[in-house]
Amino acid sequence: MSVIRALHQQLVSKERSAVEITQSYLDQIAALEPQIHSYLTVTGDRALAQAAQVDARIAAGEEIGMLAGIPIALKDNLCTQGVRTTCASKILENFVPPYESTVTARLRDAGAIALGKTNLDEFAMGSSTENSAYQLTGNPWDVSRVPGGSSGGSAAAVAARECAVALGSDTGGSIRQPAAFCGVVGLKPTYGLVSRFGLVAFASSLDQIGPLTLTVEDAALLLQGIAGYDPRDSTSLDVTIPDYTQCLKTDLKGRRVGVITETFAAEGIDPAVRAAVEKAIQQLKDLGAEVQEISCPRFSYGLPTYYIIAPSEASSNLARYDGVKYGARNNNDSLMSMYTKTRAEGFGAEVKRRIMIGTYALSAGYYDAYYLKAQKVRTLIKQDFEAAFGQVDVLVCPTTPTTAFKAGEKVDDPLSMYLGDLMTIPVNLAGLPGLSLPCGFDDQGLPIGLQIIGNALREDLLFEVGYAYEQATDWHQQHPKLA
Ligand code: GLN
Repeated sequence: MSVIRALHQQLVSKERSAVEITQSYLDQIAALEPQIHSYLTVTGDRALAQAAQVDARIAAGEEIGMLAGIPIALKDNLCTQGVRTTCASKILENFVPPYESTVTARLRDAGAIALGKTNLDEFAMGSSTENSAYQLTGNPWDVSRVPGGSSGGSAAAVAARECAVALGSDTGGSIRQPAAFCGVVGLKPTYGLVSRFGLVAFASSLDQIGPLTLTVEDAALLLQGIAGYDPRDSTSLDVTIPDYTQCLKTDLKGRRVGVITETFAAEGIDPAVRAAVEKAIQQLKDLGAEVQEISCPRFSYGLPTYYIIAPSEASSNLARYDGVKYGARNNNDSLMSMYTKTRAEGFGAEVKRRIMIGTYALSAGYYDAYYLKAQKVRTLIKQDFEAAFGQVDVLVCPTTPTTAFKAGEKVDDPLSMYLGDLMTIPVNLAGLPGLSLPCGFDDQGLPIGLQIIGNALREDLLFEVGYAYEQATDWHQQHPKLA
């Protein structure tokens, strides 16, 4: 059963109170944080006060919704009113937002209990959470390894049972890749399905907020709570949100599944990852799916395209951190030196690298050669997906070419770090939904992720296929062995 459903039943049957449930997660945080370091801020008192309100509603005989009393962790790039929001950057070290993001406001109004803010790569730029200015997060399956990134804190907190469910954000893989590395479920929704209002912007045409959970049903329930139109996000889609729990079926008869040929031909794919994903594909067949190979020939251009578009948008978005409007400021004699000192001290190396690449790509004389060209290739990648979805309902491939690597292993080699995003990035470029779920372990006991990609707004099919697969396997029931 899903974590949310189990906790909900305990609450409505009065087996446990929301305060008791919240306290048990706070205890788990206290016990494991010395090893995992997934939280930047824990808001224990607030959480217990919110939980007491839920208990009061239950005691008064009120009917509560599915998310009421559910303890949740929030990536620290989601603005939370009155609670420090750092983006794991020194430049926002003391930033306390005066407003609440739409998603966290919706969850709060639904009675969910915010336990705190989780670690990430600075401004969500990275794949290991090592770019955090504050701390290294350990992978609960092997704390000497990275949890993935950039939503590494959220993924690790879910895997370590330091929260019931969590939110992350995904610009090029930042929900799905850490989900794969930590053996949990991660969903990047269709671009525009979930409001970005109050999500600190990295690359606005790619960013989406989504769930990290232990089961597919939890992801469906959490998405239900955050999806939907928001006039405060101009890219928000005004569409009817289906009841996602209705799509959780256990057979896949007649479902057409495409295996992306190019993702298996990719260089550097781990034999263990390949074997686990091939086995998962066989299981989808056994569940009744019709499986065929599908070629997305321009998929492999995703990476270079992304590393022009994302830094370009980042360089523009991050121009606002000038020491005047937000966060840290190095006071100096002239305005210019205040700007430069503030930014030189406030941003880490990877963020600076992105700002420089983006500024270069957007500058006069280079714009056509880089940014404009990248936008054209983005369209071609989108067309590959469109053609594929003319033939199949969903596409599958590995989420990542490898399992979690050792902390420190790739910090001096940004290119090899970027290569890990090969299979997740095209999905963001095309604005499509992608789900990662556990599909096995390598010989070192490290989790492997299966990625299921859908056409725009077909989260229902991802849940259907993911749930059927999950019910037929027991990967999601494995626990990391933590002292
Ligand atoms: N790893 C990718 C990057 O470094 C994606 C990050 C993300 O999705 N936020 O940009």
